[in-house]
Formats: sequence, C-alpha cells, structure tokens
Amino acid sequence: MTEPRTVLVTGANRGIGRAIAERFVANGDRVATIYRSGDLPDGVLGVVGDVTDTASVDAAFDKVEAELGPVEVLVANAGVTKDQLLMRMSDEEFESVLDVNLTGTFRCVRRASKGMIRMRRGRIVLISSVVGLYGGPGQVNYASSKAALVGMARSITRELGGRGITANVVAPGFIETAMTAELPEERQKQYLATIPAGRFASPDEVAGVVQFLASPDAAYVSGAVVPVDGGLGMGH
Ligand code: NDP
Repeated sequence: MTEPRTVLVTGANRGIGRAIAERFVANGDRVATIYRSGDLPDGVLGVVGDVTDTASVDAAFDKVEAELGPVEVLVANAGVTKDQLLMRMSDEEFESVLDVNLTGTFRCVRRASKGMIRMRRGRIVLISSVVGLYGGPGQVNYASSKAALVGMARSITRELGGRGITANVVAPGFIETAMTAELPEERQKQYLATIPAGRFASPDEVAGVVQFLASPDAAYVSGAVVPVDGGLGMGH
C-alpha cells in the first residue's frame, strides 16, 4: 500500500482501462475516469467526456481535481482502431484514430502536467501497443499513433524529469478485450503462432505493470517502453 493518490485513467468503463482502474481502487487510491459510455467499476469517479475535445478534457479534469485533488497519476488508455489497407485508407480514417490515440493523449497529458508540476511529483503512463514498433498490416493509422507515444513520453521525461515526474509507455501485445475480439480469426491465429508465451493475456496483466510504473519502486524509471506481450515484439 502506498499513500492514496488521485489517479485518472481514461476509458475505464471496459477492457484494459477498467482492469487498471480496478487495480488502483484495490490499492486504496482515489480513482477517476474520463469515459464516454457504459458502467464503471465500484469506487471509480466517472466524468463523462471525450478525449477528442479539449474543452471536454479540461472540464473533466477540473471536476476530478475539485472532488479528489490534483491528479498525481495519469494513465492515458483510451484508444481506437480503424483498420484499413493503406491504399484505401481515407484521411478521416487516419486522422480520427490519431485524434483519439495521439492528440487525445496529448490533451490529457498537457492538462495533467499543470498539477504535477505544482506538486513536483507525478506519474504518466501512456498505453501504446506492440503494433507501434512492430507494425501491423492495415494499421498504418493505429501504428503511427502508438509509435508517436514513445516520442511523447521521452520528450516529457526530458522536459519534466527534474520535477519528480516520470513518463513511461506500456506496449501491450494481444490482450483479451473487445478490441482484439474484433480481429479476424485468421489474424488471431497468426498472432498466437508468433507469441513465445503461447497465449494471449488478460487485461489485469497489463494493469499490474501500469501499477508498478506508478509505484514508488519505479521512481527512477522514465522514458521506458515496457512490453507486456509474451515476447511477441522482442527486439522492436
Ligand atoms: P476497448 O476497445 O475495449 O476500450 C477502449 C476504451 O477507450 C473504451 O473505454 C472507449 O470508450 C475509450 N475511448 C475510445 N475513444 C474515446 C474517446 N474519444 N474519448 C474517451 N474515451 C474513448 O480497448 P482495450 O481495452 O483493448 O484497449 C485499451 C488501450 O490499450 C487502447 O489504447 C488500445 O489501443 C491499447 N491496446 C490494446 C490491446 C489489446 O490487445 N486489446 C493491445 C495493445 C494496445 P467507449 O466504451 O465509450 O467506446
């Protein structure tokens, strides 16, 4: 158990974000989420918002901070896919994925940094993907957005590392959620064959790593890309 902190996880209504929020609640932290729809785990303060809208993100942070105090841990988890072959990918398909996964993360990080700088402590964890560095057919939009999070975390580390703030990237592989259930069965089989662990992972296995990066034990870990992929992306 650590001192209770205010933790904000985007998209905690389902999948990996939900598992992350549950972990922090179990740890005794004050947990909030910006979410669009659905229901939330017990003990999570939900503020409806959309990460593609700056005013919505800022208003949600204002509400969370008024109720729970400044956000000390930000987990930027909200993300979407819109797979399409490069030749056929429209500007909208490219830009809308970047707007959630990359610019949406930027909007949250920018707002969270204000309180963190004032407190002189903070933990930023960006949920990327193995696909960011490994690539994926039909995922030029998604992979670009996820790879960019590495540059973002490392720039934050260089800018704010001296103020007790860390920024790390978690790169999950194949996790059993709605996002992966949508993948064609053939693609799922192909992935399984290339995963040294020989299985997919549960969302909670990602949550455990996020929790470590937000813990006092990880105070000297920053700008890292931590894979949670059973070895799928090794060397990338
Ligand atoms: P899900 O599709 O299950 O959940 C995505 C979450 O993001 C939902 O809560 C969704 O809200 C939220 N979200 C999407 N767009 C917005 C938005 N504009 N504003 C606010 N919230 C939004 O995904 P996963 O749990 O599988 O994925 C979570 C993260 O992990 C994503 O960033 C994903 O890219 C990444 N990831 C997932 C992997 C996997 O195998 N599942 C592998 C590697 C990375 P709503 O329910 O309202 O749509």
